[in-house]
Amino acid sequence: MLDMKWIRESTSHQEELQRVADQKGITLSVAELVQLDEQRRTLLLAVEELRQQRNTLSQEISVLIRQGKQEEAELHKQQVKTINKELDEREALYRKVDEARSQLLILVPNIVSPDTPIGASDEDNIEIRRVGELPVFDYEFRDHVTLGEQHRMLDIPRGVKTAGTRSYYLTGIGAILHRAVQQLAVDMLVAKGFTLMDVPLTVRTEAMQNTAFFPLGQDQAFQITEQDKWLVGTSEVPLVSFYSGETVDVTQPIRLAAASLCFRSEVGSGGRDVHGLYRVHQFAKVEQVVLCEADAEVSERLLQEITANAEELLQQLELPYRVVAVCTGDMSQKTYKQYDIETWMPSRGAYGETHSSSNLLDFQARRSNIRYLDAEGKLRYCHTLNNTAVASPRILIPLLENHQQADGSILIPKALRPYMNGMERIELPV
Ligand code: AMP
Repeated sequence: MLDMKWIRESTSHQEELQRVADQKGITLSVAELVQLDEQRRTLLLAVEELRQQRNTLSQEISVLIRQGKQEEAELHKQQVKTINKELDEREALYRKVDEARSQLLILVPNIVSPDTPIGASDEDNIEIRRVGELPVFDYEFRDHVTLGEQHRMLDIPRGVKTAGTRSYYLTGIGAILHRAVQQLAVDMLVAKGFTLMDVPLTVRTEAMQNTAFFPLGQDQAFQITEQDKWLVGTSEVPLVSFYSGETVDVTQPIRLAAASLCFRSEVGSGGRDVHGLYRVHQFAKVEQVVLCEADAEVSERLLQEITANAEELLQQLELPYRVVAVCTGDMSQKTYKQYDIETWMPSRGAYGETHSSSNLLDFQARRSNIRYLDAEGKLRYCHTLNNTAVASPRILIPLLENHQQADGSILIPKALRPYMNGMERIELPV
């Protein structure tokens, strides 16, 4: 959410917002919002004035009655009746206009950073850096589904049998690997001072709205029928909502982490990424969330920090990756600046997104009403940021594919071995 005062105060702000809404693919008329806001303010003034007149008349009526001036009191009462009628009409109109304004205001996108690339889709994202060597296979390499099946780590047909499309079972060493990457990420974040949280995975509509996943992303969420509850698509929702409506101390940035399941309907992804583990309805994610003071330099520094954390993890997993600056058309409503990290996936012959790192400035905190006292003792909305530390099973795609060997075995990166009972290599079962 942006401050309506900021939107109202200059036409250049309004032009900027309209441009960003168009670039982010959000259908919104900022001019209509401003007009509704104006109308709302005029109506509010009129309503307050009428209420004031009614109060004055009511007080006068009491005095007149005490003075025995029945006739004049009657006249005043007639006036009050007329005012009440007008008030009813104006209040009804005010509620209508206020509702229409709220519905537009909630669609207003966050502004974007000056260094955000302008573009329509992920094809317009700009590569910032590449790290790590791509593997060279002098044999016919296998994709993660073949490897997973050969190693009896993965069972997609039975996943589909039980839970429908985009479902899977991880079995035996597959399930162990899935937990190992998460624990490696959790331990790394805890060592860096993040507070680990175990969070609710079913949340109220309000939490989804406050964190700006609703209304625009509502079709991505699974609802618990006949309840005001939704399965979370990311632990960012409960992590940020932990502080909703509160005044926090951000003298030091608040660094939170959670390992959670995530559920996504993936409506609209249609026939995209239907092969294997890339795009599924249920996955696990270790998430980083940071809250800090409303200083763009501080939050920029923290964006670099949480991006570096994810890169460190990929380096520990000995995986080649690249960092891209995400363009306007590939950003969500709430995002001010975003990097994606894409890890090399041999079966795709391309880098595939495995991490998403975002600075939201005060957009999310404003909606969630999370504030802090600044040095002058003024209450301000804080900045919020988030990034993946690891998401599995998607990370198993590059992990299995990049570390496969000619004999079908899979090398386990050194950092992961302590989480795999010291295992150095996963041999093909006999
Ligand atoms: P996001 O929260 O949308 O920025 O996604 C963060 C990360 O979660 C992505 O980079 C993926 O690694 C993973 N992810 C997101 N959606 C899915 C999905 N449908 N299936 C598997 N992994 C996903």
